[in-house]
Amino acid sequence: MKLAIIGGGPGGYVAAIKAAELGAQVYLVEEEFIGGTCLNTGCIPTKVLLNSTKIFNQLQNEGTSLGLEFKDLAIDWDSLQLRKNLVSEQLVEGVKNLLLTNKIEVIEGRAKFISKSQLEINLKNGGTQNLSFDKAIIATGSTPIKIPIEGIELEGLMTSREVLSLEEIPESMIIIGGGVIGSEFANIYANVGTKVTVVEMLPRIVANMDSEITDCLETALTDQGVVIYKSTKVEKIVNKDGQYGVKIHKEDSSKGEIFAEKVLLATGRKPNTNDMGLEEMGVVINRGAIVVDKLFETSVSNIYAIGDCIGGSQLAHVASAQGLMVAELINGIARAIDFKTIPYCVYTKPELASVGLLEEEAIEKGYKVKVGRFPMYANGKAVILGDVAGLVKIVADQATKQILGVHIAGESATELISTASVAIRLESTVDEMLTTIYAHPTISEAVHEASEAVFGHAIHIPK
Ligand code: FAD
Repeated sequence: MKLAIIGGGPGGYVAAIKAAELGAQVYLVEEEFIGGTCLNTGCIPTKVLLNSTKIFNQLQNEGTSLGLEFKDLAIDWDSLQLRKNLVSEQLVEGVKNLLLTNKIEVIEGRAKFISKSQLEINLKNGGTQNLSFDKAIIATGSTPIKIPIEGIELEGLMTSREVLSLEEIPESMIIIGGGVIGSEFANIYANVGTKVTVVEMLPRIVANMDSEITDCLETALTDQGVVIYKSTKVEKIVNKDGQYGVKIHKEDSSKGEIFAEKVLLATGRKPNTNDMGLEEMGVVINRGAIVVDKLFETSVSNIYAIGDCIGGSQLAHVASAQGLMVAELINGIARAIDFKTIPYCVYTKPELASVGLLEEEAIEKGYKVKVGRFPMYANGKAVILGDVAGLVKIVADQATKQILGVHIAGESATELISTASVAIRLESTVDEMLTTIYAHPTISEAVHEASEAVFGHAIHIPK
């Protein structure tokens, strides 16, 4: 079977490797960079910046309480940028090698459908190439949305792409959008001393997650000096004397203008579906996103779509999971992946992580819920690390004791959440969590204690 995959991000390259392993003849077309947004301008570079700037911030502010003393502690921004690029390059090289050893033919260029079984590729090095296929997977990802407001086309406004590679640390920055991406950049730049202001249209930042855990992040960012305007709309952006002015409309109907050296637009991402001959071929598109069925097949049979280009949860691990599932499916293996247990993570300090149902979602679904909470300040490892912000919150069904949702703010939250995903996937109960032994001292003990708190009392919470 001849399989054409468009897009070499975590959706496309994972599908390519799996399909090749299963015996397909795979062609991967990529117009810009293998590894896609994730490895080059998304997940990986942001986490490199977060990691180093968080260490810097902790040493600067809490070094003494950790028993450490530094003279002339400084951030070397040029070296950090270099490290960020090197980490991405190392991982991209790894993927290229996997593609090579799996005998996948990579074609560098931009693909467009010219029929239901043929692509035309505008090659990067010039010229065009036609590629016929038996089946195709579209994994073209997404790009930042520019909200329709006056001034949005001003020169120098940044998206998540430009803000990753600033030559210098800016003195001040306004971030429009307090979702995951906006909050991570707020944390990165506040860590290195930039005066950050976040403008969020909704009543809270990272509004798709549990409010108790996002409150922990909001408190931490505010303590760092980040100013957060919630329920606030941006009306206009202007350029004044080398600075940007952002006119805002606040919840109480008052208006104002805030100023900064840099403005970051972090208002979401739209699927990449333009100029690919999709609609001409009969692929149904809804509000920019490719419409697929439960098996990720588009309205044209034998053409599938996965990852950010179908909308929904625009996450690398979701794109990869969909890629694996489709690659297996078209090679005759039906193995359903449980898309109810998608973990959502924010890699700020404190980290946030969430899987399963929110408390309010569980109630809406008719469950009578019981909730257990355990604060990180009562966890030994968190105290050792000097990082006690946050909590573990477990939402369970009162009748069956089944765990429905786990929401964590705090150190290692993004690592802990996988255990919770497995627990929910296996329909585990609170009792099963409780009768499992957790290593001491670890942050994971907070999950154990939160399970205990659901129906009784956690040992380490004062009565
Ligand atoms: P992409 O990774 O976007 O790859 C699509 C590829 O298709 C691109 O390389 C593009 O060049 C190529 N392409 C597009 N059109 C064509 C065409 N016509 N012909 C040929 N090639 C084409 N997700 C997480 O899970 N965790 C995180 O921590 C995280 N952090 C993020 C931080 C930032 C700043 C951003 C912007 C995103 C982050 N994401 C994160 C989201 C994650 O990057 C995406 O969900 C993921 O990359 C989607 O994978 P994909 O394969 O669908 O698309």
